[in-house]
Amino acid sequence: MPVLPHDAESHVLKGAPLFTKILIANRGEIACRVAATARRMGIKTVAVYSEADTDARHVAVCDEALLIGGAAAADSYLRGERIIAAALETGAQAVHPGYGFLSENEGFAAACAQAGLIFIGPPASAIRAMGSKSAAKALMETAAVPLVPGYHGDLQDADFLQKQADLIGYPVLLKASAGGGGKGMRVVEKSAEFKDALASCKREAINSFGDDKVLIEKYLTRPRHIEIQVFADQHGDCVYLFERDCSVQRRHQKVLEEAPAPGMTQERRAAMGDAAVAAARAVGYVGAGTVEFIVEGGAFYFMEMNTRLQVEHPVTEIITGTDLVEWQLRVAAGQPLPLRQEQLAIHGHAIEARVYAENPEKGFLPSIGTLLHLETPAAVQFTTPALQGACVRIDSGVRGGDAITPWYDPMIAKLIVWGPTREQALVGMSQALGEFQIVGVANNISFLKRLIESEPFSGADLDTGLIERHHETLFPASTMPGMEVLALAAAALLQGDLAGHSRSTAGTHYDPWADSTGWRMNATVTRRLEFDSEAGHSAIDVEYLEDCWTLRRIGNTGNAGNAGNAGHSDERAAMQIVSHHAGEFTLRLAGRRVHGTVVRDGEAFHVFSGEDRIVLQYADPLAHAGEHEGEGGRLTAPMPGKIVAVLVRKGQSVKKGDALLIMEAMKMEHTIAAPGDGLVDEVMFVVGDQVAEGAQLLALLPQQGASSATDL
Ligand code: ADP
Ligand code: ADP
Ligand code: MG
Repeated sequence: MPVLPHDAESHVLKGAPLFTKILIANRGEIACRVAATARRMGIKTVAVYSEADTDARHVAVCDEALLIGGAAAADSYLRGERIIAAALETGAQAVHPGYGFLSENEGFAAACAQAGLIFIGPPASAIRAMGSKSAAKALMETAAVPLVPGYHGDLQDADFLQKQADLIGYPVLLKASAGGGGKGMRVVEKSAEFKDALASCKREAINSFGDDKVLIEKYLTRPRHIEIQVFADQHGDCVYLFERDCSVQRRHQKVLEEAPAPGMTQERRAAMGDAAVAAARAVGYVGAGTVEFIVEGGAFYFMEMNTRLQVEHPVTEIITGTDLVEWQLRVAAGQPLPLRQEQLAIHGHAIEARVYAENPEKGFLPSIGTLLHLETPAAVQFTTPALQGACVRIDSGVRGGDAITPWYDPMIAKLIVWGPTREQALVGMSQALGEFQIVGVANNISFLKRLIESEPFSGADLDTGLIERHHETLFPASTMPGMEVLALAAAALLQGDLAGHSRSTAGTHYDPWADSTGWRMNATVTRRLEFDSEAGHSAIDVEYLEDCWTLRRIGNTGNAGNAGNAGHSDERAAMQIVSHHAGEFTLRLAGRRVHGTVVRDGEAFHVFSGEDRIVLQYADPLAHAGEHEGEGGRLTAPMPGKIVAVLVRKGQSVKKGDALLIMEAMKMEHTIAAPGDGLVDEVMFVVGDQVAEGAQLLALLPQQGASSATDL
């Protein structure tokens, strides 16, 4: 559950009565976030959900829930009429739209009013006024709000627009007037490229927003994105809750947000705050809104106004000690703003990181799948702002076991950290990211950690090109796994103890290495474990000797480009498993304590330990045994050796891949596995027997009805 500021009771309850029940027309973390505040205020909540969200967290945290249609947003979360019907059906008095979906849809806001429901947001007229970037800029011009030089008129003739761009001077930025979410933008470097860029911008604009109107702006080459949170009530009051710096972006979308903005002066803050309030007043604004500015050098320019609660609102809540959803509910009910401008102040520093199911190494491509394992850092309450350490808040719409589907935004969680200073917030953030564990989807945790710890970010050398410019530092070549990581994976494999909502096969078949009944206790045999990681291939020989394992790393081969990582050959270490539970291991490795978590997803071992989070692909000898030894239809000894374990009896039925027998040869273990489903017809040897190369070890009868069994 999100941790919220706790000082709500201190606000004076005055004016109009609050709602007793609201409908939340959204999903994911923002639906859960709104529900948390409503619950605290004693307001009942109604969730709506799509067929893809039957078991979603937002459905579970609300008091009631209604299915509103199919998985596609157009069939559910964008069905305004259906949602209004759901509100009327359940007796909700107001609708909270969250962000995205219908939150900036003037038609929906108006339809709510018509149905006698309160839309928890600005009036439809304000949404309309700010909905078109072009019209909004024209309006801001009359309100004396500074604008980026550019053209935002109605004429859309290509030759005319090119002339405007020539006059502004290159580079210019083409923007879809109806655009949002970083879409529909093109940077044009010179006049000769203008027409092509215009055509492609208009194409994307009509496809994404159903409107191909564009505007042109001077493209600032090293700007910062600084936005102001504003809040207005129905009684003519409007305040600003200071700024958020959202300069760290990928594809013109925010990755990190913080408040206050590093380097902000009191004068500049007041000037930007006043401009934002003027913008809000110019459109008769009510509720929570954000005025986005682009800042370069000493100047700031209006970009757009987002007429809703913003994804990054928690950083503002934390530094001001407010609950903006509570403010939204009070203002929508007709109450005055809880605080006046002079009562608002900034305490400390807050940073938010957006944790996404995406692959930063592959151009931030979204990833889908089931969250087999989700471990979030412990939330730390914000009750004592005077304490020295960092406070941690996690706003999330998912739990372990939930799926990230292709239908909606791939955000997993927002991690928000507060510290008395930016430095302390940074330390807290990097620690909290270190505690985040996600298995099942690609994610940006490691990338966020490198970003937070990078020199430009920690040194507050911010601008919107930070990620691109520091690509090399932020995407270093992968390194070969260290002995600690290999030891943890080996320990997990040897103990068969793994964490997670696992879909692995671990435990479903007999694993002799997990057996402590003795056959291997006095053996001095070696088992070779082979793993592939991004950086290359690792192999270790594991030898068991009286209560202790010896690990020996043998000739590793780094991939091209990672050659420098190879060459750990012949590193040896004694390993003891001190304790283990649910995939969490404590080892003693070469006299040092090693702690970590291992999560298995099929043949992938995800190892989390200290600074390391590495995926090792296990080359399973059982799989190979199944493939190769059974090929000829005879279960034979691959080389001369000794039988060390017989794992099946005559008459026992076995499944393809089950371990049948283990033999030792040349100090290595070899597992003989079933090539297909079958019945053990005969076992030719007992433990301790010496066998010759090619000797038949077992006979299997294919199981009746089993399709894959070989005729033996
Ligand atoms: P912000 O400036 O708050 O990041 P943007 O204007 O970039 O907002 O985008 C609007 C917000 O709506 C984004 O945070 C985005 O994640 C969210 N959003 C957009 N489409 C969807 C969707 N299909 N499902 C859920 N959230 C969405
Ligand atoms: P959206 O509606 O997609 O949020 P914005 O107009 O808010 O569109 O711009 C999104 C981002 O694009 C900004 O945060 C900034 O990084 C970049 N951007 C916008 N306008 C300019 C400009 N004139 N020069 C340089 N970068 C810009
Ligand atoms: Mg924007």
